[in-house]
Formats: sequence, C-alpha cells, structure tokens
Amino acid sequence: MGRWHDAAWYVWQLPQNLLGLAFWRLMQRRHGDAVQVLPRPAGDSSVATEPAADSAIEHSAAHPKPAASKRPAAGAVGQNPTPPRPLPTDFTMIHLPLPLFGGVSLGRYLFFGDPNPSADLVAHERGHMIQSRRLGPLYLLVVGVPSVARAMYHRRRHAHWTPEARSEWYHRHWPESAADRHGGVRR
Ligand SMILES: [Zn+2]
Repeated sequence: MGRWHDAAWYVWQLPQNLLGLAFWRLMQRRHGDAVQVLPRPAGDSSVATEPAADSAIEHSAAHPKPAASKRPAAGAVGQNPTPPRPLPTDFTMIHLPLPLFGGVSLGRYLFFGDPNPSADLVAHERGHMIQSRRLGPLYLLVVGVPSVARAMYHRRRHAHWTPEARSEWYHRHWPESAADRHGGVRR
C-alpha cells in the first residue's frame, strides 16, 4: 500500500506505536547489539486465509449452487472472487534477548524472544496487528491489559503444566483466540 495509507494506519494506532518504539529504543540502550531486527519469514505471502471464507468455500464445494444462481462465476469478466483477508505487511520484527512468552505486538512493532520465531507465532502476532487496526487507540486497554494480566496469571499458576496444556489454555480465550483467528493459526 501507499505511503499515505501506511501513515494513516500509523497515526490511528499511535499509542501502541509510540509505546512499541519507546520499548525498542529502551531495549537497544539496555541490551545493545543483542536487540536485532529479524528478516521477514521466507515465503511470506502476506495473506492469511480467513476461516469463515474457508468454510464457505468448503460448503459451496460440497453443495454446488444450481446453474441458475445469480452469483457470477469466479473469474467472470469484471468480477473477482472474494479475496482472502490480507494481513498487514508494514511491520518490523525485533528479537529481544528476553524470555518472552511467545511475542509482544505493539502497533507495527512485533517483539520475539526467539531469534527464529515459528511461522505460527509470527502469524499470531500479525493477528494482534489486525486487532490493533480495528481498535486503534483502544487497543492497549482492550487487548493489551487483559493480555498482560492473563500472561502473568498464567506464568504464576500454570508453571507445572505440560507445554501443550499451557499453550491450549493460553490460546483458548480472548484476546489470544481472536489473534489466532485473524492470523489464520490453527492449533
Ligand atoms: Zn498473543
């Protein structure tokens, strides 16, 4: 997208963008070269398939519409099939030498404790970017606060659980479940 488009998104998400930028600078001051900008994942198509669209496609494939349907065929001249929802592409991935539980998304700044974050983790964090775009200045209150509170509770109460059980609990509820859905992550 164009520069104005990106700038408009940046301003709409200003609180989390400024917090992310300040956090990045603080970490650089504290940890120096150990804080690194990570390359984008290889083969990043910047597109996640939307679960709802997926099931609609499966549904229509299982029950083909009658030929008399008014719906134009995909690929008809001047008509495009509904494209999958694109994930935001204007983001910076930053590795911090900290034992982060997964990652942290602050506007366009995505922080990872692992220098090689998994594709699912990156997609999840980009799912948080969708939440940030939808909520704008309310993101920190609506997503940030419950997310941090849950992570703290989780760390204290579930330390003895298996990694699988921990992950399942963590991603089951808002706001993590929605980030998974937006990012196209299936667990
Ligand atoms: Zn998350």
